[in-house]
Parts: sequence; C-alpha cells; structure tokens
Amino acid sequence: MERTLSIVKPDGVRKNVIGDVIGRFEKQGLKVVALKMASLSKAEAEGFYAVHSARPFFASLTEFMSSGPVVLMALSGEGAIKKVRDAMGATDPAKAAPGTIRKDLADSIESNIVHGSDAPETAAFEIGYFFNALEIKR
Ligand code: ADP
Ligand code: MG
Repeated sequence: MERTLSIVKPDGVRKNVIGDVIGRFEKQGLKVVALKMASLSKAEAEGFYAVHSARPFFASLTEFMSSGPVVLMALSGEGAIKKVRDAMGATDPAKAAPGTIRKDLADSIESNIVHGSDAPETAAFEIGYFFNALEIKR
C-alpha cells in the first residue's frame, strides 16, 4: 500500500475544516495511519519546505505555515499520493477544479488549506520528518 503525507494548514484549522478535509480522504478509501496536531516553528516549516528555499514565496510560506496549529497525517491506500493530490486540486484555488478541497475551501495560492506529498520519495521524507517509530509503523 502506498503512503502519503497530508497537512491541514493553519488556514484550514482556523476555518474549522479539519473534519471536512479528513472526511474527503476517507471517502476516497484512504486510511489514516498516523495523525496529530502540531504548531511548527519557522525553522521547522523551513526544514519541511527546504526544496522551495530558493522560491520568492519561501519566507511568506514558512511564516504562514508557522502562524498557527496544523494537523499532520499519514494516509495509506492504493494510489494514495495521486488520490490526495486529486482531492486537493491545483495549487491556486482559482485554477482548481470544482469539487476539490482548494476550490471549495481555499482563499489564495498561498493559503490553500492543504498539503499533499507529490512523489513516493517526498512522501517518505515528509512522513519521517513528522512521525517517529512509535507513531507510525515503518
Ligand atoms: P502544492 O502544495 O500544490 O504541491 P507547491 O509544492 O508548488 O504546491 O508549493 C508549496 C506551497 O507553497 C503551496 O501549497 C502554497 O502554499 C505555496 N505557494 C506555491 N506557489 C506560490 C506562489 N506563487 N505564491 C505564494 N505561495 C505559493
Ligand atoms: Mg508541493
């Protein structure tokens, strides 16, 4: 079974849509295999988004990601990475397809409610970044 990491970002927690987001993943047949709330420091957000460190939006993105609590989860299922990416919709909610999380719930390209890993290698890094051996079976 494939695994992926998803985050309900600080805007999603502020908007009371934690259950809505997780419910959409569950309706896709995905299993929540690890779950917790956390408040990321700026440095922790920078480490998570290190691949984007050269992007012009890096400072603003990591400020946003450390602006309030987030919900971190690992999901398991066949094609989990693509299922989550499909449920999320395009990065920019204005370009996201109808019925996707970002189209339905997000305000901007930065404050876009949800994160999902984009490939098996990034999923492994991201799950390991947030969950230890006690919290998720390797
Ligand atoms: P995705 O989350 O869809 O995989 P990226 O990996 O490209 O998108 O970007 C990571 C996050 O950085 C996005 O989810 C969004 O919060 C933020 N972001 C991406 N592009 C921009 C941008 N042009 N301006 C501001 N924030 C952005
Ligand atoms: Mg991405």
